[in-house]
Amino acid sequence: MSTVPVPGCCEMLTRVGKHTIDVAACPCCAHRTGGGTCPVCFWTDDGSTDQNAGTARGGPNGDLSLSDARLNYAIYGASHPRYQEAVRQPRPEELP
Ligand SMILES: [Zn+2]
Repeated sequence: MSTVPVPGCCEMLTRVGKHTIDVAACPCCAHRTGGGTCPVCFWTDDGSTDQNAGTARGGPNGDLSLSDARLNYAIYGASHPRYQEAVRQPRPEELP
């Protein structure tokens, strides 16, 4: 994150990206929701990967590790039981 944003240049990259690059998949539920807080499982992408999935990072997901979130998603359909009312079904274009 050390790049200095260049007006116009970034806009162009974003626009091109939508046509040529797949939307980022959620590391928890694998739906292509583009990072941030996933509306399908409510996991917030904090940079956790398979390499550190067992470690809770204490960021936006609190004491929830990616492994726990995946397990919760399999059981409850949300990264944490408290999010069951907040999540929605994935859209067809978001399917893995
Ligand atoms: Zn997700």
